[in-house]
Amino acid sequence: MSVSGTSERPLCVAIVGSGPAGFYTAEHLFRRDDLTVRVDMFERLPMPFGLVRYGVAPDHQKIKKATKAFDRVASRPEFRFFGNVEYGRHVTLDDLRRHYHAVCFATGAQTDRSMGIPGEELDRSHPATEFVAWYNGHPDYRDHTFDLSVECAAVVGVGNVAVDVARVLCRTPEELEKTDIADYALETLRASRIKEVYMLGRRGPAQAAFTNAEVKELGELEGADLIVRRSDLELDTLSESELAKGDDRAAQKKVEILRALAARAPQGRARQLKLRFLVSPVELTADSDGRVAGMRLVRNVLYRAEDGALRPKPSDEHENLPVKLVFRSVGYRGVALPQLPFEERRGVIPSDQGRVVDPENGRPVPGLYVTGWIKRGPSGIIGTNKPDAGETVASMAGDAAEGLVPEPAVVDADAIERLVRERQPDVVGFDDWQRLDAFEMERGAASGRPRVKLTSLAEALAQLRGS
Ligand code: NAP
Repeated sequence: MSVSGTSERPLCVAIVGSGPAGFYTAEHLFRRDDLTVRVDMFERLPMPFGLVRYGVAPDHQKIKKATKAFDRVASRPEFRFFGNVEYGRHVTLDDLRRHYHAVCFATGAQTDRSMGIPGEELDRSHPATEFVAWYNGHPDYRDHTFDLSVECAAVVGVGNVAVDVARVLCRTPEELEKTDIADYALETLRASRIKEVYMLGRRGPAQAAFTNAEVKELGELEGADLIVRRSDLELDTLSESELAKGDDRAAQKKVEILRALAARAPQGRARQLKLRFLVSPVELTADSDGRVAGMRLVRNVLYRAEDGALRPKPSDEHENLPVKLVFRSVGYRGVALPQLPFEERRGVIPSDQGRVVDPENGRPVPGLYVTGWIKRGPSGIIGTNKPDAGETVASMAGDAAEGLVPEPAVVDADAIERLVRERQPDVVGFDDWQRLDAFEMERGAASGRPRVKLTSLAEALAQLRGS
């Protein structure tokens, strides 16, 4: 192995996945003065940007502005985008290792965690991740159906994804039609008969995973009153003493915000969003057609676990909620990738400072890296991926300088393109995506929306062929 990353011997990097983690990795690579690089990004879908396009809520357009920085990365002559190309199907690990010094996986967390309770698999019980992907027009989820003809729904979990789902369920059609929500979702939500949405936290308000700006926004919905029970905000002694330490200012503020929200009188809006704490679903009950007909809850109390965290344990107090539709929002989960090690318990590729680690011997696998959620698990906001990518790139640059990355068998940049085109004639380049982007925005402008998304692969490819 010899030194690479110089102007004579640029470091050739393949990034698998085009979400924020992938793009921030490319950005960090281009920013380094000590490194000359060529970056190719592989994406399973024709459209780039991963969770920015398919995860961020449609009524949070500002967050989607992150793509401006990604466009700048993509405009560099040393960058190529291979969209509609799937790792493990159109390109294998061996292909990538033959053509690149370094391969970095940025595939995120593509599935959900489960609650592990009876009835979870009933009709009208869904992972929140699928609902999110559906309303954001993800091609894999556009044909899913969600029965919004019922009146009472529950979202399990109180993280920011749960907040997004509850908020979208409570938005009025007028609020939604200003966004880039998928057209079919807009129509389904327009016809929604939902009147009551429960959000259920298994721990107390001081431990809620949502951030303060997000919960405040729940108090500002045009069509729904946020109801928080004052009794849920009376802190147990463990939470009280934890907050009194004063080292978690955000948690203190969170409790203050919730108390202010609880003190407000409902305004008689069409929908009610009921935020509850210290409860866990223990069972979903079924009607005769196998659909959710109700939810049995247990009230929890907090205890201090061995690791020092406050965790919930069930009491013997139970309650039934008349919910007919359930979204479990209890966390995303990474998916194992072909030919790579995987840590089942955390749902991540095992790594050390961004270097993929062989679990057999605990040593880094030369030339393989990870970044984003598939590296650290599904936590943090879009911007969290920036320093995370920085760490991975620092490892990669260090390895290149020390001659620790393997020399690829083929250094011809055209060779991988030929190989990809052979296996996937419908490869989508970044210029193709820009045409689709312009088309979506043009359609949106006609109806006063940021964009009208192309949600079907066939439609997107036909658009490219025709335009
Ligand atoms: P999260 O923040 O980890 O929240 C998961 C929630 O599920 C927590 O309330 C957790 O409770 C609960 N939970 C886990 N297992 C449960 C169980 N078995 N029963 C009941 N509740 C359970 O995850 P997320 O909401 O999926 O969000 C992922 C990341 O994306 C987060 O970092 C989030 O901030 C970020 N995000 C940000 C935005 C934004 O900035 N607007 C929007 C969406 C997502 P415990 O706390 O008790 O474990």
